[in-house]
Amino acid sequence: MGFPYTEEHRLFRQSFHDFLAREITPYMRQWEKERQVPREAWRKLGEQGYLCTWLPEAYGGSGLSFEYEAILIQEMAYQEVDIPVFLHSDIVVPYLWRLGNDEQKHRYLPGTTTGEILTAICMTEPGTGSDLAAVATSARRDGNSYVINGSKIFITNGWDADLFIVVAKTGNDPNPHRNLSLFLVEDGTPGFAKTKKLEKMGRHAEGTAELAFQDVRVPKENLLGEEGRGFYYLMQNLQQERLVAAIGATAEAEIMLQEALTYAKQRKAFGQPIGSFQYNSFRLAEMATEVELGRTFVEDLMLDHIQGNEIVTKVSMAKWWCTEMANRIAAQALQLHGGYGYMEEFPICRQYQNVRVETIFAGTTEIMKSIIAKQLGL
Ligand SMILES: Cc1cc2nc3c(=O)[nH]c(=O)nc-3n(C[C@H](O)[C@H](O)[C@H](O)COP(=O)(O)OP(=O)(O)OC[C@H]3O[C@@H](n4cnc5c(N)ncnc54)[C@H](O)[C@@H]3O)c2cc1C
Repeated sequence: MGFPYTEEHRLFRQSFHDFLAREITPYMRQWEKERQVPREAWRKLGEQGYLCTWLPEAYGGSGLSFEYEAILIQEMAYQEVDIPVFLHSDIVVPYLWRLGNDEQKHRYLPGTTTGEILTAICMTEPGTGSDLAAVATSARRDGNSYVINGSKIFITNGWDADLFIVVAKTGNDPNPHRNLSLFLVEDGTPGFAKTKKLEKMGRHAEGTAELAFQDVRVPKENLLGEEGRGFYYLMQNLQQERLVAAIGATAEAEIMLQEALTYAKQRKAFGQPIGSFQYNSFRLAEMATEVELGRTFVEDLMLDHIQGNEIVTKVSMAKWWCTEMANRIAAQALQLHGGYGYMEEFPICRQYQNVRVETIFAGTTEIMKSIIAKQLGL
């Protein structure tokens, strides 16, 4: 069964659509050129209640369920808004909510809903990405502190974030899955440095960063959850991360299909609309079928997720398939635009660049297939 959106969802979607069209979308191109989204944009999102909508009111949220977050992700994709709100609201802050103690929650959560505290998660290192258990950044206990040393790379929002969840090695158990822990590191902590804002193929406004930790001393109270449980916490939380990636990719595929259809109906060659050539009309028919398959699969999965059902296998399937599908749609939609598709001013050009990473981050296509194969008993 697909997702049953209600009238409230529709109204929420409309308000967010209008908000983006007024406050964000007109400036997005400029921010991409500047490689920077102003904090003011985050604050506006916060003022309107669009950050961490799911947090309880006591912490500044609206207590909304997951489908509202999905609507935000979709609408941002439809308007090509490339601000890592989903990373903050649906990936990082949930760790604080699920694992944080009262002190940590009261200290940080309200700021995450206003845009005063932006967050990032630091798993990947120059030497390891897919193989999380091989993280080398270390956190050594020293009295009432931990001392963190190491470096992280490709950290979305890393340049702008104020609070970082850092995955570090705290033990030497023969089972490497027992050696990781999560730490809260605030920007400005001595020894912590944002060393480089990385130049990328796309997603220029996301502030992807390289980070260094040199004898970064944090109080033991900055441990998030229990020591040695980090790997398991990551495995739990990565499910929603993968769902979010599948939702985003599918929404992007939907909008790219719409653009391709509009263009194929308007653009003429050899005296007729290019969409009327059978080759192109069949191609568009195939693209529409793929998008529909992705959408219904993702909506079904959203329902499972909201109902608290186990989604490990299906979400791995959705993550790889929907992101690969979005890349196929991007390539075909761009081809249908001819030379204009290669021009920056055409949305498809940027979308093509932006979707490329989606088969890589949040677990690569190959890692998703490994998880599925394992679940199949292979
Ligand atoms: C734009 C961007 C944003 C990102 N944001 C974040 C972030 O916010 N936080 C964070 O921690 N990380 C982030 N990442 C990192 C991302 O999650 C990693 O790049 C990804 O997990 C892959 O790790 P890797 O780059 O080290 O590649 P590797 O793990 O070295 O993999 C290289 C290739 O080998 C394949 N491979 C690896 N193992 C296997 C296997 N067992 N079987 C078959 N093939 C395999 C991979 O699929 C891949 O094709 C981001 C990356 C990018 C590019």
